[in-house]
Amino acid sequence: MALVSMKEMLQKAKQEGYAVGQYNINNLEFIPAFLEVAQEEQSPMIIAASDRMVDFLGGFKNVAGMVRTLYEELNITVPVALHLDHGQSIERCKKAVDAGFTSVMIDGSHHSIEENINMTKEVVSYAGKWNISVEGEVGSVGGQEDGLVGGIKYADVEECIRLVEETEIDALAAALGSVHGPYQGEPQLGFEQMEAISRKTELPLVLHGGTGIPAHQIQRAISLGHAKINVNTENIQAWTKAVKKKLMEDSNVYEPRLVLLPAIEAVKQSVTEKVREFGTSGKA
Ligand SMILES: [Zn+2]
Repeated sequence: MALVSMKEMLQKAKQEGYAVGQYNINNLEFIPAFLEVAQEEQSPMIIAASDRMVDFLGGFKNVAGMVRTLYEELNITVPVALHLDHGQSIERCKKAVDAGFTSVMIDGSHHSIEENINMTKEVVSYAGKWNISVEGEVGSVGGQEDGLVGGIKYADVEECIRLVEETEIDALAAALGSVHGPYQGEPQLGFEQMEAISRKTELPLVLHGGTGIPAHQIQRAISLGHAKINVNTENIQAWTKAVKKKLMEDSNVYEPRLVLLPAIEAVKQSVTEKVREFGTSGKA
């Protein structure tokens, strides 16, 4: 199997009542860690590069090349999508499509709803030619988004309906109180709006900022139409903790591989927990 779009993956998840996790690449070593967990757990998976990280990761072609090559080299057989997270412009989304990403998010949420719809439409028409799935966003996720730190803005139900009806996106990120990075206190998710948006759009919803949301709120979000949950903070916290521990315990270590191996194991463990929590084990 080759990399796939996330369309069928998310429709199946929504129908069967679980959510596929999206896990973000922070360096090369994250990719085999994610792929091995997907295979071991027989789980579908969305591997993403955040647009603000793409240049650090060597550019669109390099990211697509690394994921495609590792998918083959590791003999992965479960469905995996390569997704652009928070695509900042139409041009950046087109570049990702051209490079071989199988899914893109166009984040027009910081613009007016009219402009958001126009941007999203153009990306859908370009991506659609190659069967590439598109995620759109309404409202603002709190914390860091697109490299900018901002407040939470709850998605407007009518704007969500308009974006879905006028653009033919495959998944909708309706920001309803979630935050990128650590939460200050208990998250206040807008479950009422969530239910209305899910019922009226019938589209798989995407929960950004999955780290730090208590399990019962995650399960409720899944039962109210969330079929994709994005997790990054938890994985990179596990990575950093393992690197620190290694450096503290072994003051003579100087080989990067020896520092990174425990970090990779920590990421694998963190992702395995998420895959099980979201109910995707055995769903490949
Ligand atoms: Zn996000």
